[in-house]
Amino acid sequence: MVHEGASAMKQRKMTIVIDGPAGSGKSTVSKLVARRLGYAYLDTGALYRAVAYMLIAAGVEADDRDIVSKHLADAEIRCVKTPSGMFVQINGEDVTAHLRAEEVSLRASRISALPLVRAKLLPVQREAGRDGGIVAEGRDMATVVFPEAEVKIFLDADENERIKRRHRELAAREGRVQRARVAEGLRNRDRWDRTRAVAPLKPHADSVRIDTTRMSIDEVVEAVIAVINGHPSREFS
Ligand code: C5P
Repeated sequence: MVHEGASAMKQRKMTIVIDGPAGSGKSTVSKLVARRLGYAYLDTGALYRAVAYMLIAAGVEADDRDIVSKHLADAEIRCVKTPSGMFVQINGEDVTAHLRAEEVSLRASRISALPLVRAKLLPVQREAGRDGGIVAEGRDMATVVFPEAEVKIFLDADENERIKRRHRELAAREGRVQRARVAEGLRNRDRWDRTRAVAPLKPHADSVRIDTTRMSIDEVVEAVIAVINGHPSREFS
């Protein structure tokens, strides 16, 4: 263990990106991998959720380009780094507590198809990852935001398994939740995320794909760490 820590310090800090659909295990695995490496963890979904929350809070119901554009133009969106992690701030407000509701998930998926939303969030993400030493998770990390990332991972799992995981997560937080509703939400988000014209969810040609359907979280973390350790920049400098 001591040896692992000492060698990690000598290694160049890489950019690790993890893409995949809802329920693939991305967030849990990304956080754990970041902790193992002593890297920062960047949850880019939180940025799309934050924009969705901002629109819902402002009473904007339609995903109309002009209206969304007006709200976005005035918004200052930042990823704030703290010793315990990053959080998203909109116009000075920490919006973390509002981001996980199902209504916000669905709206995030819809507004993320708007090119002006993606254009607004692109520099925010690049700024957060500017110095490397980051594990960034999302849908277009490898294809658009950090195409130069040394390690590109794409996590996936069977739809039923992903619904089961998402249901468990929501039920733990919100109490009784209908499985059918969770399934419908996840399928809709998948469809929107995979078929949108700009930055759709898909692996990069260099992405290492891992099917997590029958794997435990620990097994997935180990598989990702093995890919990272296999990268040439992990050698001593
Ligand atoms: O990953 P998470 O479920 O928090 O993301 C919420 C939504 O934000 C996704 O369904 C997707 O539509 C959008 N998103 C995106 N690009 C990213 C991250 C998230 O379009 N890099």
